[in-house]
Amino acid sequence: MTEIFRRGEKMMTYIPILLAVLLGSQGQAKVADSDAVKLLQKYVQINTVTTSDLTKAVDFWKQLAAEDNLPISVHEYTPGYPVVIIKWAGTDDSLDSIMLNSHMDVVPAAMSDGWTYDPFSGHLDTNGDIYGRGTQDMKSVSIQYYMALRRLKANNIPLLRNVYMTLMPDEELGAENGMIPFLKSQEFLDMNVGLELDEGTSYPIPFIPVFYQDKVVWQIRVDCYGISAHGSTFPTTDSTATGKCNNVINRFFQFRDEQYALYGKAAQDNAGGYTSINLNRINAGTADNVIPSHVSLVFDMRLGNTVDTEEFDATLHKWISEAGENITLTYILKNQQSPATYTNTTTPYWTAITTAAASAGVIVAPILPPGSTDARHVRNAGYPAYGVSPMPSTELLLHSVNERLNKNTFTKGISFYEKVIKNLANVPGSATAQNPVAYLYKTAE
Ligand SMILES: [Zn+2]
Repeated sequence: MTEIFRRGEKMMTYIPILLAVLLGSQGQAKVADSDAVKLLQKYVQINTVTTSDLTKAVDFWKQLAAEDNLPISVHEYTPGYPVVIIKWAGTDDSLDSIMLNSHMDVVPAAMSDGWTYDPFSGHLDTNGDIYGRGTQDMKSVSIQYYMALRRLKANNIPLLRNVYMTLMPDEELGAENGMIPFLKSQEFLDMNVGLELDEGTSYPIPFIPVFYQDKVVWQIRVDCYGISAHGSTFPTTDSTATGKCNNVINRFFQFRDEQYALYGKAAQDNAGGYTSINLNRINAGTADNVIPSHVSLVFDMRLGNTVDTEEFDATLHKWISEAGENITLTYILKNQQSPATYTNTTTPYWTAITTAAASAGVIVAPILPPGSTDARHVRNAGYPAYGVSPMPSTELLLHSVNERLNKNTFTKGISFYEKVIKNLANVPGSATAQNPVAYLYKTAE
């Protein structure tokens, strides 16, 4: 694949004039803003709700790659969950590459939720808003990456480093079938990644946040077992499953209140200072007149970035044992605390991004978000990663009803990425560390 592409590249450098003549206005049209909007609409129209068949999305990328004569490969680490890699070759294959990641999957959406337009229509209204699931999270970014790279190529701007676009499945459900196995694959190793870009978020003010660390997700199930009897009997509270779970809930909610107080004091740009915790499922009972023998609780937690995970695990077990006998704790999800990527001028990738932003006339600043993205897995694997989605002055509608993005914000984002990718791909080899892990630091032990 690579070889074929290199040959193609050489040809391209010899005949740019001929190509320009051949393509004419068609070549220009391929990088026009209106075409980018149409492409986003087309991509949104492909329903890629996490568990659905992604074949059409893969075909969409295959067709684009064919149009631009780019090597594309598709890998399934879990059957039915394709990972797509598209390569834009740089001139120095020996240097660490830039990985532009996005996920193909989206969270569910239906008209019955209250959408004004079909969430899979990509409807463009008279205000210039493009409606649809994925317009913010994060099909817009995939198209922006692609159009930015297309423009760089059309303008004959060389890339020193290889640039890879990777398109993941299964991000929304935790990446067990996407990013996690991909990071362990030979294909990933072969890419020789130096930096990964991933998703960020929209922001209501004229500002683009850059995520440098994600919070760790822990989900636990607590099962309480106790006496089951007729509803007319009257056992002691602590012998019943509901009584025991009540103790668990009280202890966890005491912790929740403490953390909520920290959340109230936390700076807007730092969600790392507190641990969020929510009781999201309660299951119990077989009949109205039977004391249930089993109650099950599910808590979702996003750990603060200085939380010592071993200590916190021990604390959870202590609270469970204090709540009574025959209570079990099971981890549904227990991510490792992810390191952070440096955001200072000693990191040439950071400088490349901030310089690009300044020349595009936009403000960027580092933020630690309350949620998490695929980038946490990348950092855990030892590679620096930044999360950025250029959607300033935009209502936060990720996962929401009427998710939409204004076409002007969308097309400005293409220009932003054009500058960012150009800078990142041209960071000289002498400027970067031997091992990209040098750009990571731990915030908790
Ligand atoms: Zn996302």
